Amino acid sequence: MSAGPPRVEVDPRRCCGAGMCALVAPEVFDQSDEGVVVLLDPRPPAALHAAVREAADQCPCAAITLHTTP
Ligand code: SF4
Repeated sequence: MSAGPPRVEVDPRRCCGAGMCALVAPEVFDQSDEGVVVLLDPRPPAALHAAVREAADQCPCAAITLHTTP
């Protein structure tokens, strides 16, 4: 059984500007001129879920949270 679509949340205060998220899932994450994460799509389509999970896994600052809906 697979989880429902994740809702993506970012915490710019935790973001340390590593940029992994924007590399792994550029459709969902961008970075400001200061290098702080910018969330482009809080409810990404299914085709992007794997990339979003990978971005959250790879964020060194744990600034990306995924809330899965039932
Ligand atoms: S991977 Fe994490 S620390 Fe790096 S820009 Fe994205 S949210 Fe910020």
